Amino acid sequence: MSATLEPKSKFNGDAASNASKRKQTNGFGSPRQQAIAAVTSYQNNTPTLDFSEVSASELYGSNVFSKKVMKARLPKVVYKSLIATIESGKKLDPAVADVVASAMKDWAISKGATHYAHVFYPLTGATAEKHDSFITPDGEGNAITEFSGSQLIQGEPDGSSFPSGGIRATFEARGYTIWDVTSPAYILENPNGTTLCIPTAFVSWTGEALDKKTPVLRSMQALNTQAQRILKLFGHTDGAFVASTAGPEQEYFLVDRNFYFNRPDLLFAGRTLFGAKPPKGQQFEDHYFGAIPERVLAFMLEVDRELFKLGIPVKTRHNEVAPGQYEIAPLFESANLATDHQQLIMITLKRIAEKYGMACLTHEKPFAGVNGSGKHVNWSMGSSSQGNLLYPGDTPHDNAQFLVFCAAVIRAVHIYQGLLRSVVATAGNDHRLGANEAPPAIISIFLGDLLTDVFEQIKKGGAKSSLAKSTLTVGVDVLPPLPKDAGDRNRTSPFAFTGNRFEFRAVGANQSIAGPLVAMNTIVAESLDFCATQLEAATKGDASKLHGAVQTLLTEIINKHSAIIFNGNGYSEEWHAEAGTRGLLNRKTTADALPALGEKAVEELFSKYSVLSPRELSSRYHIYQEQYCLTVEVEAKLTLSMAKTSIFPACMRYLNELASTYSNLRAFDTQFDAEPLEEVASLVKSLQGAVSKLEEALHEAEDKELETKVKHLCDAVLPAMLTVRQCADELEGIVADDLWPLPKYQEMLFIK
Ligand code: ADP
Ligand code: MG
Repeated sequence: MSATLEPKSKFNGDAASNASKRKQTNGFGSPRQQAIAAVTSYQNNTPTLDFSEVSASELYGSNVFSKKVMKARLPKVVYKSLIATIESGKKLDPAVADVVASAMKDWAISKGATHYAHVFYPLTGATAEKHDSFITPDGEGNAITEFSGSQLIQGEPDGSSFPSGGIRATFEARGYTIWDVTSPAYILENPNGTTLCIPTAFVSWTGEALDKKTPVLRSMQALNTQAQRILKLFGHTDGAFVASTAGPEQEYFLVDRNFYFNRPDLLFAGRTLFGAKPPKGQQFEDHYFGAIPERVLAFMLEVDRELFKLGIPVKTRHNEVAPGQYEIAPLFESANLATDHQQLIMITLKRIAEKYGMACLTHEKPFAGVNGSGKHVNWSMGSSSQGNLLYPGDTPHDNAQFLVFCAAVIRAVHIYQGLLRSVVATAGNDHRLGANEAPPAIISIFLGDLLTDVFEQIKKGGAKSSLAKSTLTVGVDVLPPLPKDAGDRNRTSPFAFTGNRFEFRAVGANQSIAGPLVAMNTIVAESLDFCATQLEAATKGDASKLHGAVQTLLTEIINKHSAIIFNGNGYSEEWHAEAGTRGLLNRKTTADALPALGEKAVEELFSKYSVLSPRELSSRYHIYQEQYCLTVEVEAKLTLSMAKTSIFPACMRYLNELASTYSNLRAFDTQFDAEPLEEVASLVKSLQGAVSKLEEALHEAEDKELETKVKHLCDAVLPAMLTVRQCADELEGIVADDLWPLPKYQEMLFIK
């Protein structure tokens, strides 16, 4: 024995020095092991919050320059004039600005503010702000605080570093921020002081929209104008502003920051570009609505507290389907306000997560193999006098009005399905749409059996002499009472009627909801325009003809557009086939979906309702293409660098260890099975091959025109990245655990 062991000792020495080298380079284990140790010994040291000291209702809105604050601090006439703008969309009287600015400043200073910031929403989907101090030197060595009406109304950030898609050349970098009265100013707290934040629109010096907010406001106006025509036909002439309403449900993941900082992919791309499927994923279905872990609940309580202060009506919080996934949803608000609030929710989630030693991931697909994150945008329209216009109601008369609004949405979604698909098209959302847990890329409407039945009956009732007509003529006889709550749910539909609103589920978790809302508002405005024009022509002011005209209109719409209605399983293969025969679009990727923004019909739609000029639209198309390219290129570069600088070296170390151990063993047992060694070696070779392919594909992307580049990144670069990942993920399954450099899925998803 000892004789056979003799030669081995040489290698033994190597193995020992390997092990000690490993120790040396890693200190107390690899960065990954250190991360695990740090996570498992986490102790919360944030000060505890106590809602019994200041109740949630007292906190609510305490940092908002709300109507209540305005009423208390502004002269009556000024207050009234502002409210008229906020509530009824009346033009803002610039004469009130000085008074409002001064009151706002005093209020903000009483809350500890030293600066004010115009907050705006550039086309990157992010939130931007430029801070200015209230302090102005008085020329005698002292300083006074100042905030004028013109400073409130207009700011001029250096816009040159925000994408304009060609609207504004750098030499004319001027971009203006303009006070949006309809979204209240608020105080943003920091441990070292507070800032008065003023939501603004961001436009070029020629008045073209450079932001996400401007078109939201314009589209709301368009929707109001057309909705008023319908309401007038039904005898409602009070003119109360019809606003679109939005309630976005935000899904997100939380991972410990120690893992986060050990994953360059999470840090820089927001999603894991590598990672083998864990033995335990979400298959137990034990996470959804499960008990919320203590650290996470503490985080949620603080998030809620901060959002309450900002007057954001957060209502629900719960675990989502995937491990480590959660959801937060506010009550719905007017679309513009909901959009601003949604941005604040995302910022707050990220900021507070840090305090609790975690990172909040809002990417649509941070982890392959478990559910992705969406942002269901619940959408409706309503006014102070009419309430929710998509509430079915229970009298036939209300039903008729409801059915017109509902049919208008159905028609709009059918005609503009390509546009709706394009406004949820991002590199991140591509991993979600069409995968097996998110809505498919085919846009369809889930109406629910009851409402579908109502429309089916209307369809039949269109036949003039049929018996059906006498029983079904809308608003005259006994239209079947509509369900108050459609009740039945369908999780696979990208666009579902849920009792009194539509839920646009294809929206991605990381997106601003502005784009989807602009699209919704505008296509429904167009559809209401169509309906109103037809009804006005048929009735010619004679109200007694209305119900007949409505019946004709509904029958026509449902005959033409019911192809968009689908109540079945959106994931099934049969649906994909059937959608094809129905002529519905199935645009699987951003590369397929974005070009809708370049279509003539879409251009005409947006210019007809003064929501986006052709130039504004094409600038957006350009920017979204660019963003797609930037995202995929960054991901590809990260894939390369992680494969080369962390995965490959780990595999080589392991290979070296295997090789020396193997030759040791062979010294006393020539039959020793070399299979593991060969397996690792062959996978490493595949990894190298895949890396070179990806390098080539990425290189080829360089000089391409934007449009072909998008296609190339989608068709060549992404698949090449995936091949690299597949090799690496296989290696993860066989390389010694203590050598593996990256935190693994099970660690990130389950260790809290
Ligand atoms: P679920 O998860 O069952 O879809 P949630 O309660 O999580 O439902 O979210 C429902 C969202 O729909 C909330 O934000 C809610 O305020 C919103 N909502 C309700 N009514 C309307 C409406 N009329 N317009 C827009 N959103 C609405
Ligand atoms: Mg939900």
